[in-house]
Amino acid sequence: MQTDLMQIFREACSQKVSDLHFLPQDGVCILYYRLDGRLKEKERLNPAQYQEILTRIKGMSQLDIGETRLPQDGRIRLQIENKNVDFRIATLPTIFGEKLTIRIMQPMNSHLTPEQIFTHPEDLANFKKTISHGFGLVLFCGKTGSGKTTTAYTAIQELAKGHKLSIHSVEDPVEYTLPAVAQTQIQPKFGMGFPSAIRAVLRHDPDVLFVSEVRDQEAMDLILKAVVTGHLVISSLHVADSISAAQRLLEIGISPYMAASALSTVVSQTLLRRVCKDCCQEITLDEQTALHFGMPEGIKIKEARGCDSCNHTGYRGRMAIYEFLHFNKAMKDLIRTQNLTGLQEHLVVIGHKTLRDRAREAVIAGHTTIEELSR
Ligand SMILES: [Zn+2]
Repeated sequence: MQTDLMQIFREACSQKVSDLHFLPQDGVCILYYRLDGRLKEKERLNPAQYQEILTRIKGMSQLDIGETRLPQDGRIRLQIENKNVDFRIATLPTIFGEKLTIRIMQPMNSHLTPEQIFTHPEDLANFKKTISHGFGLVLFCGKTGSGKTTTAYTAIQELAKGHKLSIHSVEDPVEYTLPAVAQTQIQPKFGMGFPSAIRAVLRHDPDVLFVSEVRDQEAMDLILKAVVTGHLVISSLHVADSISAAQRLLEIGISPYMAASALSTVVSQTLLRRVCKDCCQEITLDEQTALHFGMPEGIKIKEARGCDSCNHTGYRGRMAIYEFLHFNKAMKDLIRTQNLTGLQEHLVVIGHKTLRDRAREAVIAGHTTIEELSR
């Protein structure tokens, strides 16, 4: 059994594990890896081994080692294989002791070029269009772990190239350091939440403002004011797609007029598991499934099986799919009148590609399966 912490970290980094979960149970602690979005049991530790790891992690991330009844969070930066890797630490009291969760922030994720991220030429063109306007609100949407933060950072990095723009960010937490960007971490403990940090940043003559996440109306109102006074504001929302993003803006109490005026582009994304090329099987799509998913009947698609090279899961690696919604006048008018059903119908009429359309294309192209599409 392996209890050496550095060895766990090294192995997790080389396997591109995104999170480590140490879950205490009755008389045992289970270590899980999150890989390609799914949890996988890695090993079982006895309570003494886990206690040793927990104490060491708390010490390294400057948490209170004696505090076991309250949740704590911190971070550690380590050199792993000559790269700086940040580990975000969180502890949580449970009935069997403290649970420990570690998010691994591999640095390479933050230095991707748009060409590396957007392999589909249509997506790349849409991305360039998104950041080509000097003002407006650009929202990156997706669920946790969808890669929306990486995409947002890629946008900032593109804008920062050439050092011709004053770029500021207000973040919680600052996930990666970006060259030529003034990055501010909010400090609610000292009275600097998102709203006061945004107000302060607006006094520093910004061209572009990146706000990592908008949680309330006050912060969103400030952002929208910045947009209508001619700034480019980039932010992210924890919603699945473009329509939900518009809906969320209205739900948090933003005036439909302001939302309509400000919105420039909503970029939504999600990750699909790639079917393992070594073991997948070709099947012919039957009538009922074809009808259900709106796909042509009788086409050949791939079905997941499982082999040694994919750990018997049938899938290996993931791919991102994107939806870009650039708001034109007609769409803004529909938001102004809060007619989201009308917006949805309009998108169908103009042949706008949703995430579901893109997932369907990925199934037809043989990259993934019907099982992933229906998820
Ligand atoms: Zn396989």
